Amino acid sequence: MALKEKCAICNGKIQFRFSPMKEWKIKGSLCGECYSKKLNEHYPGEHVRVNKHLD
Ligand SMILES: [Zn+2]
Repeated sequence: MALKEKCAICNGKIQFRFSPMKEWKIKGSLCGECYSKKLNEHYPGEHVRVNKHLD
């Protein structure tokens, strides 16, 4: 069962589907990369940072 879903932002193939927040006003689904980019844009510094060594 192949789901041919594309990312609403980069148009790339989605391996893990993320749903955009309502306030982002994006239709469709996002790939993980674009989702975290958007998170960063809209909520800078609020999400958990992975690169802890940068602190
Ligand atoms: Zn994307």
